[in-house]
Amino acid sequence: MNANIDREGCIGCGLCPTICPAVFRIADDGLAEVYTNPIPEQEYDNAIEAQENCPVSVINVE
Ligand code: SF4
Repeated sequence: MNANIDREGCIGCGLCPTICPAVFRIADDGLAEVYTNPIPEQEYDNAIEAQENCPVSVINVE
């Protein structure tokens, strides 16, 4: 399972690194980035929760 972010649409709200800090972080440009792929199995639920809660729906986990 891998995570991707359409960074052009990210508003840098900080929610995804709060929900799943093992996979997502805020980069120097203030937008979220994925830094752990593939997603560790124990983080699947958190990554999916981040996807479901991103306010602009730019996270894809599959
Ligand atoms: S939850 Fe969505 S909008 Fe917020 S930082 Fe993560 S990718 Fe960006």
